Amino acid sequence: MSEQTSDKKLANETVDKVERDIVYEEELPVLYEVDGQVAYLTLNRVKYHNSQNSQMLYALDDCFYKACGDDDVKVIVLRANGKHFSAGHDIGTPGRDFDVGRDDRRSMNYNHDNKPGAEKAYVREAEVYLEFCRRWRSLPKPTIAQVHKGCIAGGLMLAWVCDLIVASDDAFFQDPVVQMGFPGVEYFAHPFELNVRQAKEFLLLGERWSAERVHAAGMINKVVARDELELTVKNWAEKIASQPRLALSLTKQACNHIEDLQGKRTGIDAVYAMHHFAHANNTLVKGDYIAGFDGKKMAQANKQSSKDEES
Ligand code: ZN
Repeated sequence: MSEQTSDKKLANETVDKVERDIVYEEELPVLYEVDGQVAYLTLNRVKYHNSQNSQMLYALDDCFYKACGDDDVKVIVLRANGKHFSAGHDIGTPGRDFDVGRDDRRSMNYNHDNKPGAEKAYVREAEVYLEFCRRWRSLPKPTIAQVHKGCIAGGLMLAWVCDLIVASDDAFFQDPVVQMGFPGVEYFAHPFELNVRQAKEFLLLGERWSAERVHAAGMINKVVARDELELTVKNWAEKIASQPRLALSLTKQACNHIEDLQGKRTGIDAVYAMHHFAHANNTLVKGDYIAGFDGKKMAQANKQSSKDEES
């Protein structure tokens, strides 16, 4: 009886909202423009290599929504300003806003910010990582990711949800989060983007793979010189835009449906639970849900790992 009472108390427990100064360095973390029948969405947290905070992800969702609703837009390109396509999820900039709740949530999830224990990250990541990725993958217009330089961890998620990926020859791809205790990022598409044995190597070693290598493995569609990247993507987008709208949407739906029949959706659901078991374990063992890592520590570890590869 007393156990039940204590369980009930825990279940109803909330925590205080974190009062922290969050500094957004960009008012518009994603830029939106339309040229002809193509919408260009440009990640614009240049100072922090397009690391993804909630501000950026909600802005990106707004842009995708706008492009979907515009009858003049038939194809959507996702690209980035700055040195890298995306350094991953924001784990340490002044604009890191993981503990901020939002009234403009896009799924039926409740707010996470005042929830205790493992619930907080589980609920937040279900919305801004898992459901956002699925929402963007399922939108009814073809999408092309235009990737240059670093496409790391959460960066992969943004590229993977696009229908086509074109990269410059200076691009590299990496999911280094096993060192943080996780079986890969929240959207576990790895064994669909690579074959299973390649996915294991990609994750277990956590190394950078060149554009050429991921192209050979089938993860991306095309590799071009950096100065040809923009024009190549534009040409593809315009060619696709000349096809009938509904056929484009049905073709995309058909391919995605087959992927889901092959287990993509249910597989990602299962691994999402494992990912959050790892978050909870990090909190128990290390006292921090991402095992004490921050942007700097990850960057150092990555630098060291790429040095090891070279030597
Ligand atoms: Zn996570």
